[in-house]
Amino acid sequence: MIGASLAGLLAARALHESFEDVVVLDRDVLPERPEPRRGVPQSGHVHGLLARGRQEMDDLFDGFSTELAALGAPPFDVQEDMRWWLGGRPLAEGPSGMIVLAASRPLIEFVIRRRVQGLPNVVVRPGHAVDDLLYTAEHDQITGVTATVGGERVVFDDVDLVVDASGRGSRSRHLLTALGYPQVEEERIEVPTVYVTRRYRRDPRQLDGRAGASVNAYPGNLHGGFVLAQENDTWIVSISDRFGEAPPTDDEGMLAFAETLDSPDVATVMRSAEPLGAPVKMRYPASTRLRYDRTARFPTGYLVTGDAMCSFNPIYGQGMTVAALEAAILRRLLKEDTDGLADRFFAETAALIDVPWSAVAANDLSLPKAVGDRSMLDRERGAYLTRLRSAATEDPVLATAFLRVTHLMDPPAALFAPEVADRVPA
Ligand SMILES: Cc1cc2nc3c(=O)[nH]c(=O)nc-3n(C[C@H](O)[C@H](O)[C@H](O)COP(=O)(O)OP(=O)(O)OC[C@H]3O[C@@H](n4cnc5c(N)ncnc54)[C@H](O)[C@@H]3O)c2cc1C
Repeated sequence: MIGASLAGLLAARALHESFEDVVVLDRDVLPERPEPRRGVPQSGHVHGLLARGRQEMDDLFDGFSTELAALGAPPFDVQEDMRWWLGGRPLAEGPSGMIVLAASRPLIEFVIRRRVQGLPNVVVRPGHAVDDLLYTAEHDQITGVTATVGGERVVFDDVDLVVDASGRGSRSRHLLTALGYPQVEEERIEVPTVYVTRRYRRDPRQLDGRAGASVNAYPGNLHGGFVLAQENDTWIVSISDRFGEAPPTDDEGMLAFAETLDSPDVATVMRSAEPLGAPVKMRYPASTRLRYDRTARFPTGYLVTGDAMCSFNPIYGQGMTVAALEAAILRRLLKEDTDGLADRFFAETAALIDVPWSAVAANDLSLPKAVGDRSMLDRERGAYLTRLRSAATEDPVLATAFLRVTHLMDPPAALFAPEVADRVPA
């Protein structure tokens, strides 16, 4: 396994039932406490775990949610306890029955890493920077990796399966091309965004007791924001700008920026809560999807998962959930058979990714400056969904239906079912 972040750890959980030994290599130092780390530059930013992600992680790790809650992550109903601003208006509130946990990214990774390290046949090795693949042309197979460890080259050979979970910066496609495999097609949706994030002390009475608010950018306002409760009585607050300058990082500038958002919630927290630590900044240029499912030739003994295969615009909070769903697919496929594993894995994960990827495309490509393939958009469907979202600001049943799809609990087809469509004005 290359990478001991979420996708790598979740995949290791899937592998441990089917292989004698699983070794997870990461080039980073892995902290002994839940804290952001260098190898995962997004770890200091807001991470919402979708309801489906929570469900899948509970399935992979018995009692995962209970453990997160015991470590202080507040459970909350995604509709009743959170305000979702879409297109400048908030969705109607009401109980959705979807309970998620507001945990920081470092805490989620920490809990999962601890669980994986507790598996009897899995070892996690930090400080191992994987730099190359071992390959036998005769069998068209990847047989291991080489890694640099404290300046020394270490060889991991005779490996049955190598899984690349090294994130957005994955070098898989270049390494495979160098071995003579065809170029991997890349799809991109470019909405260059800069996030500025800071933590604040939380008083649970703030925001009328809600767990947070999400303010999405749309053509009428390219500024976005997110505020979410976290463990240790904290808020994590993020502001973001698309296509323009980075949001400011000084107190006054951040507040002035937050005041440009459609919702007052982000500015309210900034104004009334004590900041904890300095703000952090991150650029996110584009959602990227590598079509391993479409390559004409791919070696046996190799897979790619997580952000290394598809990295989604973070605003939709899909990455961790998709990584968990990919691990669930891998777990099931390995139990069935190992023959043709790569073809089966990439076909199934492509079908999985199609749904969140289409959601990113539909939303992001509505911004005139976004760059991407608009031919895949269905105008009629788009117009219906715009009407549905608008009606969902008044109708809590529509808001629940909408949130169930965005949380990947229901397929998009659920929004076209008669009991939903009948509530959407023509
Ligand atoms: C700003 C931002 C906000 C986000 N918010 C959300 C959110 O709200 N909800 C959500 O679900 N997702 C969110 N995401 C996405 C989420 O962070 C990822 O989908 C998730 O972390 C899974 O990523 P990964 O494990 O594939 O890769 P990463 O988390 O990027 O980890 C890659 C790992 O590989 C290691 N590595 C890299 N190269 C090598 C090498 N050569 N050798 C050994 N190790 C290597 C790194 O050290 C690292 O540990 C967000 C992303 C960003 C950028």
